[in-house]
Amino acid sequence: MMEITVYGRGGQGGVTLAKLISAAYFLRGKEVQAFGVYAAERSGAPLQAFVRIDDAEITNHNQVRQPDHVVVLDRTLVGRSSTSPCSRVVLGLKPDGWLILNSAEGPEKFAELFPGRRVATVDATGIAVGSGLGTRTVPIVNTTMLGAVAKVLDLRLEDVTAALDYLGFGGANTTSAVQAFEQVLTRRMSGQVTLAAQPAPRGAVAGILDTDVGGLPTVHTGDWATRRPERAELTPPCNDGCPAANDVRGFVQAVARKECDEALRILLQTSPLPSVCGRVCPAPCTEACNRRLHDDTVDVRELERYAGDHGTPPQPTAPTREERIAVVGSGPAGLSATYHLARLGYRVTLFEAGRELGGVMRTGIPSYRLPREVLDREIGYILRHGVEVRTGHVLTRRGLLDLSQRFAAVSVAAGLQESRALNLGQVSSDIVVQGIGFLDRVRQRPERLNGERIVVIGGGNTAVDAARSARRSGAHDVQIVYRRTRAEMPAIKGEVDEALEEGVALRELVLPLRLHTDARGPVLTCQRMQLGEPDASGRRAPMPVEGADARFELRCDRVILALGQTPDLSLWPEGADVRDGQALLGVTGAPILAGGDFATGDGTVAAAIGSGRRAALHIHRALTGEDLFPGPRPPVAGPEHIALHLFTHARRERGGVVPAAVRCGSFAEVRLGLRDEPGRPAAALEAARCLSCGVCDECDNCRVYCPEGVMVRSGPGEYAFDYDYCKGCGICAAQCPRGVVYMAEL
Ligand code: FAD
Repeated sequence: MMEITVYGRGGQGGVTLAKLISAAYFLRGKEVQAFGVYAAERSGAPLQAFVRIDDAEITNHNQVRQPDHVVVLDRTLVGRSSTSPCSRVVLGLKPDGWLILNSAEGPEKFAELFPGRRVATVDATGIAVGSGLGTRTVPIVNTTMLGAVAKVLDLRLEDVTAALDYLGFGGANTTSAVQAFEQVLTRRMSGQVTLAAQPAPRGAVAGILDTDVGGLPTVHTGDWATRRPERAELTPPCNDGCPAANDVRGFVQAVARKECDEALRILLQTSPLPSVCGRVCPAPCTEACNRRLHDDTVDVRELERYAGDHGTPPQPTAPTREERIAVVGSGPAGLSATYHLARLGYRVTLFEAGRELGGVMRTGIPSYRLPREVLDREIGYILRHGVEVRTGHVLTRRGLLDLSQRFAAVSVAAGLQESRALNLGQVSSDIVVQGIGFLDRVRQRPERLNGERIVVIGGGNTAVDAARSARRSGAHDVQIVYRRTRAEMPAIKGEVDEALEEGVALRELVLPLRLHTDARGPVLTCQRMQLGEPDASGRRAPMPVEGADARFELRCDRVILALGQTPDLSLWPEGADVRDGQALLGVTGAPILAGGDFATGDGTVAAAIGSGRRAALHIHRALTGEDLFPGPRPPVAGPEHIALHLFTHARRERGGVVPAAVRCGSFAEVRLGLRDEPGRPAAALEAARCLSCGVCDECDNCRVYCPEGVMVRSGPGEYAFDYDYCKGCGICAAQCPRGVVYMAEL
């Protein structure tokens, strides 16, 4: 009788290999027996299978104790040294028996481990995985190993294919088995078979008074593992998407805990204008929110507004340093630079050409979107950090160089001051006005446009704001004329929706050509357009439509141009580059930093805030050598990291909105924000929808679901794995809702 023991791990196919070996002999007319020893073991746990082959009927049904040959399907079951408990695979193996190993190393590598033994090796994992049989973590090597076993035991290749055929295997299984048949290496080691190979005496059974009862198992089951869990936090996509570099997840979680002051404190680390951004930001954070794949994104903008409006900010700090810094321009970029420099202890003087502070936030964005008291409140907080203000102070190129002599550093955030023009022919300046100027005038002294027909040309925020402001000023017919389609409009989508609700008409794919006046008033000649191939902006370029009705006329009383703005570079030293974060040296070597739209043209308040903060950090580094820039971020937590099925669904909380018919009559704020009701804390409920992507919130799933109890929590947020006993089942990683726990291959 020939007896074989197969050592493998659950999932690798050890029992099937035993059946395949038996089948090969059975088809040659032998009596055979094959069976495995396993309980309800999970994938990866060690198991054994046995084969008996004889000429006579086999009546012994016991486990094989002294095999003629041993087959090992997993290199990790062999161990690395002769003292390793794993080298027990040779226990009972007869001195002349073969030890057939799945290993990429040749037999000679096992000389020290198995002296005097006959060892055969084959890289079954490499062959099997290369043929698509399983994965590197759980390779299915049974059919491959059959080829090696057959060759070593002097079976023929036909016996291998016949056995595979008999048990219904083919394809990659057959090619892999043939490869292993051809590649297996054999060798007898020098030296004597060691005593370690003898069966060990059975251990004593622990009594109930045994001192070790309840202690840790002496067998370190962690040795079975082929992979192990590890923890690493990722960058939440909202944080990654925020141009102001806000810790979005952090402040949202604080709102969820109803810690509004803490939420505001977190926001104020990076942005001094949370109530402003909570009203006007296009919210790229929300666009990146993974929750969109579950039900709906988290409304971060409303939550930021809530934190800004309801939280109490920390006491402003006073200057602590001697250095004086000049900031030019009081838009969001200049205000952000001012705030961050002041918080770092510098004495800041803020120069502003206008009579009031705020830049476009005051002169462009209408009060129905951003009430003046909200802007004033946040600017007031910034100024309380000991900031000196000079309004009505227009800086020239010469003046800028002068500042660089009087101050230790200068931050320039002059925005976009030049409006793009459109040649519509000889027309009165009363009829054609620039959108920016129109918005500034409307906010200071309401215009009377009663009954007028207004055409607004453009597709950005200025166009939409001008159109909505015209409606509020009494115009009865307001049309936005845009040469592309609504999908390509750079204006914030929600603002376009609200404008349409308010009765503003949108004429897509129309290019105004000429304005003339006849007896009945102004007439705008327009060209119909169609979309062609994408242009440099990545958007499909508008092309004129041909044909008889390709042109048409629009009667109007006034045309508002909203075609975008460019920086006025007459302020900047001639020939010097204007680049975000690149210092230019003034006359005395004082660094001059350009920021905001003036340097980037990014065109959002949040981006300007981020740029202003970077300017402050650049200046601080130039003056002190201290680098306060955040280090590189970990990878972003994408949808693939989030176990959405572990989260319940929850409806998005909506903030109130004044009905279109009512809001058209005034410049009062349109959106009312999230309102907490008794027993229904809307903001906390909305914030609680945050999935906390990539960041552990100590839900404890990993610990609760660990079947081995090897997850240890030593303190708040401090988790560790006991790798001595972790078998690498992966349940903790599968149960981690946020992608923090993952499995690493060993
Ligand atoms: P600005 O806000 O333009 O501020 C520049 C400041 O510098 C001004 O106060 C100016 O007077 C001053 N200045 C200029 N030259 C000098 C000088 N020589 N000396 C002294 N001072 C000087 N973004 C959003 O995120 N959401 C919106 O809803 C939104 N709506 C918008 C609506 C309109 C109508 C417009 C025009 C823009 C809108 N934007 C919006 C864009 C956003 O307002 C700008 O991207 C942002 O204000 C740029 O900030 P900034 O600080 O770089 O420049």
